[in-house]
Amino acid sequence: MSRYALVTGSTSGIGLAIARSLARNGCAILFNGFAEESHIAKLKHEFENKYDVRAHYLGADLTNEDDVLNMCEDIKKVTKSGVDILVNNAGFQYVSPVQEFSLDKWNDMIHIMLTTPFILTKHLLPGMLQKGWGRVINISSVHGLVASKEKSAYVSAKHGVLGLTKVVALETAGTGVTCNAICPGWVATELFWKQVKTIAENTGVSVEEATRKFAGEKQPSGQDVQKEHIGDVVNFLCSEAANQMTGSTVTMDGGWTAQ
Ligand code: NAD
Repeated sequence: MSRYALVTGSTSGIGLAIARSLARNGCAILFNGFAEESHIAKLKHEFENKYDVRAHYLGADLTNEDDVLNMCEDIKKVTKSGVDILVNNAGFQYVSPVQEFSLDKWNDMIHIMLTTPFILTKHLLPGMLQKGWGRVINISSVHGLVASKEKSAYVSAKHGVLGLTKVVALETAGTGVTCNAICPGWVATELFWKQVKTIAENTGVSVEEATRKFAGEKQPSGQDVQKEHIGDVVNFLCSEAANQMTGSTVTMDGGWTAQ
């Protein structure tokens, strides 16, 4: 029987690349995130036809606790025995100096990137423990390890989820379930381009100049991380070779945190 993977925020960007990578390895995919109905239909068609796996869309807003809890109930109905792989990926960026940071934005960001991974782990872990195999993979960020200005909520949530990763790893050690985190540096997704465009607009430089300024400032390689490579690392963490990797952080940041 094929494994079920829930990848949150998998209608675009890194999450979609992870879902594709897992599907290529035969995993049935529960995908989630915001998207037009036509895009969701296209993704379902791609997963079922190109990768020949089952694909089910769960439209929960992950900043909303009731939606997250309802999604857990839907997962039980769809999978019967729960998911085997949980990838907590959904997130978004918002920048503002701390003294002006909106409390609503803070609450939404902490919810989607820290509270939701906690709720999903709490509800989906028992099924994994019962099967004696499972993978919880949290997509943190280089901002889980170091800080940047004007990102108080993002940096706090991403640091927090590394703490959650370690606790879950300790509580599941030796059970066949592992819990790890991935910390990417700049990945050229929608979230990346939104920030580049904001810099270009705010400083009056071209998008090319803003890209060099934005990526090169922090990432010594001067190159972005390919989202498909994050998918490859997720597949590795799901492989037998990673059976004893738990509580660890895989950093993919072109040397950012080596400085
Ligand atoms: P993205 O904007 O391309 O994708 C984000 C996904 O989350 C989308 O599917 C979106 O619909 C979904 N989403 C957003 N708000 C949601 C909500 N309230 N409920 C449900 N789904 C919601 O962004 P991305 O760059 O692919 O980011 C994915 C993850 O990777 C995030 O956690 C982000 O912090 C992390 N990350 C990104 C980068 C980068 O440079 N892009 C670097 C490090 C870490």
